Amino acid sequence: MIERRKTRQVTFGDDRVGRVKIGGDAPVAVQTMTAGYTHDIDACVAEINRYADAGVDVVRVAVPERKDTEALKEIIKQVKVPIVADVHFHYQRALEAVESGVHKIRLNPGNISDRDQVNKVIDACKERGIPIRIGVNEGSIIERKDKQRRAEELGMYFEGHKSGHLLALMVAKLEEYLDIFDARGFHDVVISAKSMDAALCIDAYTEIAKRFPYPLHLGVTHAGPKSTGTIRTAVALGTLLSNGIGDTIRISYASDHIDEVKDGLEILYCLGLRTRKGVELIACPTCGRIQVDLFNLVKEVERKLDKEIKLPIKVAVMGCVVNGPGEAEGADVAVFAGDRRGIIYVQGQKVANVPEEEILERLLKECKDFEAKVNRGEAKLGEKIVEIVPPDPIGELGSGVDKIRKGLVEKVTVSGR
Ligand code: SF4
Repeated sequence: MIERRKTRQVTFGDDRVGRVKIGGDAPVAVQTMTAGYTHDIDACVAEINRYADAGVDVVRVAVPERKDTEALKEIIKQVKVPIVADVHFHYQRALEAVESGVHKIRLNPGNISDRDQVNKVIDACKERGIPIRIGVNEGSIIERKDKQRRAEELGMYFEGHKSGHLLALMVAKLEEYLDIFDARGFHDVVISAKSMDAALCIDAYTEIAKRFPYPLHLGVTHAGPKSTGTIRTAVALGTLLSNGIGDTIRISYASDHIDEVKDGLEILYCLGLRTRKGVELIACPTCGRIQVDLFNLVKEVERKLDKEIKLPIKVAVMGCVVNGPGEAEGADVAVFAGDRRGIIYVQGQKVANVPEEEILERLLKECKDFEAKVNRGEAKLGEKIVEIVPPDPIGELGSGVDKIRKGLVEKVTVSGR
């Protein structure tokens, strides 16, 4: 079990879209942001609801112009999840968004630095019970005047850190902003300190987690295309979350934002921080023993199961008998290939042996039948009915159990998830 950092909690939303809690004992929430124009109301609503259907908890929208904050009035009536207005440069956009009924505001200390303006936004949010995220961002806080000297001076605060000056600036900006909020008695706050550098993200969030009691919104900003962004994000967010740091996450890819939602949820499922919805698909990478066109089979299985199965059924698609039986034993529904055929198991029981061209159809049928059985209370997820005997029996070296029995293996001390 991951022991999560104790933080304050914020709640936002309404009776229609429901309420989302961030921080405290609330599950880690997944966010994304729309990619289209907010003032294009129909497209914006469709985009938000597509993310909601994929499992997102909160969606943020950009409001660079008055017509965007105006559009929020209509958008909020038609969406399925709480909406955050992302405000940069113009504090009036925050005030207008509050007037339009937005559920949460994001302010960037890097580009709204007038104390009176911040106070006006705080007062408006306080009156309506709307939380504010203070989102510092590496890209927008760097000071541009006399940059080199400032960087050297500030770097001394985190000596030996290659980005010490950035860390110092992020912390200083947050402290400065939070002082304004404290003076107003406003604590409905979430904070973030994003960077495109995964290592800096880990250090920045670790540092602010020690200093502030507020819930943290994690993200690697501008993580790039999904191909590399996935790695950067998983490294930074995975490290922080497994250390108990982080209360909501947003992944930023230069691709369809539906991927941000899916990958965000997957990170949380992997760490046991959310209960999985939908299929957990296991598949082998293939090798010289492969017996079928596995990549295409897996792609099709994923696409179809994503649409048709709601329960967190564990499905394994394996290329041959080497690891097939082992995975089949642990999965609810499994197929492993052999001699251009697929041998299909449901909870350890062999149910079919079909030619390659029939594997997909039969596997889907077995998954649907199994889901129906679970829904009728006739089967339980993760239950094993019979042991599958591996075809390559364990030889004289044994399985390792004897060594454990003799006390020759040191006891495992890490806590399980
Ligand atoms: S299951 Fe078989 S084909 Fe797939 S990677 Fe393992 S050994 Fe190779």
